[in-house]
Amino acid sequence: MSSSSVLVINSGSSSIKYQLVDPETGDAIAKGLVERIGDPMGLIKHVHGDAVTEEELPVPDHTVGMREVLRLFDTEGPTLAEAGIVAVGHRVVQGGRHFDGPALITNEVRDLIEELCPLAPLHNPAHLKGIDVARELMPDVPHVAVFDTAFFQQLPARSALYALETETAEKYSVRRYGAHGTSHQFVSHEIAKLEGRDDLKQIVMHLGNGASVSAVKNGHPIDTSMGLTPLEGLMMGTRTGDIDPAVVFHLQRVAGMSVDEVDTLFNKKSGMKGMTGESDMRSVWEMIHNDDAPEVQQRARTAMDVYINRLLKYVGSYTAELGGLDVITFTAGIGENDHDVRRELAEALAPFGVKIDVEANKVRSGEPRVVSAPDSTVKIYVFPTNEELAIARQALTFA
Ligand code: ADP
Repeated sequence: MSSSSVLVINSGSSSIKYQLVDPETGDAIAKGLVERIGDPMGLIKHVHGDAVTEEELPVPDHTVGMREVLRLFDTEGPTLAEAGIVAVGHRVVQGGRHFDGPALITNEVRDLIEELCPLAPLHNPAHLKGIDVARELMPDVPHVAVFDTAFFQQLPARSALYALETETAEKYSVRRYGAHGTSHQFVSHEIAKLEGRDDLKQIVMHLGNGASVSAVKNGHPIDTSMGLTPLEGLMMGTRTGDIDPAVVFHLQRVAGMSVDEVDTLFNKKSGMKGMTGESDMRSVWEMIHNDDAPEVQQRARTAMDVYINRLLKYVGSYTAELGGLDVITFTAGIGENDHDVRRELAEALAPFGVKIDVEANKVRSGEPRVVSAPDSTVKIYVFPTNEELAIARQALTFA
C-alpha cells in the first residue's frame, strides 16, 4: 500500500457505494455498499482484502448510512487514518455548463450542484445527500466533485446543440451534456497510451446497464450518444435510447399517459427489459439459445438485432464524423464480458475491412486486450473501465 489513499463515494437515492483507492497502483484497498436506505431494513457490505462483512440493520437515511460506513472502516479496517486518506472524490452525474473538470466542493460548488437538480432529478439530489454528510463527518480532507458530464463540455457546438428554437433551449438549458464522461475520458486516454500516440480516431463503447458511445479525436470528444439526460442514444437495459419524441405526444394523446408515466416507461420499463422481459444480456442470450418456446427465442433475437443495429449506426455515423477510424474499444459490463455482442458488431462491419479474431475475442480476462485480427482495418480493444480510479486520480489533484 502506498502512503496515500482516496475515498470514492457514489451516493444514489437509496444506496451509497464506496471504494478506498490507492491512486498510484489503482488497487481497491477496501470497498462496500449500503443498500435499501429508507427501507425498514437496510443492507451493508464491506470488503477489506479477503474479509467480507455483511450486516442487516435499519438505515433510515444517508447520514446513518455514512456513519455506518465509517464505523466499518474503524472496526473491520483499514482505519482511514492508517490508510492515509488525503481526499474524498464524489461522483456527480450532472455538472451542466458550470463544470468542465473536477471541482473542490466549497459551499458555492455545493449550491451549483443543487441548482442543477432539475437537469438530473434522479441523481443530483442523491449525490448531495452523500456530499453533505461526508463533508460533515470528514471535515479535514478536501472533498472533490467529479462530473459525468465534464469531459463532454469539450463537445463542439455542432454535436452539443439540439435543433431546438434557441431562446427556449437557452432559457431552459436544453442541450446535450452526455454522461459516463469519466469512463470515456479514462478509457480513451489509456488506449492512446497503449497505442503510444495522441492523434487517434477512437470510438469508445461503454456498454453496461446504462450504455453510451463516444467519438474521440486526438484526445478530445467530438460526439457522444447521451444527451440532456442518459436516456438518449443506444438501446439499454431498461431505457429506449433514441426514439422519435413524437412517441411522447402520441402516448399522451392516445394512451392517456401522464408525463411521469412516459418517463418511467422510457427509462425503467423499455430497452432489453421492455422488449424481452429481461434487462441482463446473459438472460437474453439464454432465451435466444435455449428457450423452449420459439416465439420467446424469436422475440429475444429481434431485440438483440435492434441492440446491435443501434451500435452499428453509431459506429457508421461516428466514423464519418471522425473522418476515419483507428480503434473501437469495448468497456463496462457488456463491453468487457459479452463476446457475442462484440463479434456480431464486428461481423456487421466486415464490409469495411473490420476483422475480429474470433478466438482471442472469446478469451475471458480482466486485462486490457486486442481482439481484432492483425489485418483488420480497425483495431478492436477490450479495456476494463475503472471509474473509481479515474475519480480518485482527479480528486488527488486537490489534495
Ligand atoms: P451499470 O454500471 O450500468 O449498472 P455494468 O457496467 O455493471 O452496468 O454492466 C451490467 C450489465 O453487464 C448487466 O446488466 C449484464 O447485461 C452485463 N453483463 C455482465 N456480465 C456479463 C457477461 N458475462 N456476459 C454478458 N453480459 C454481461
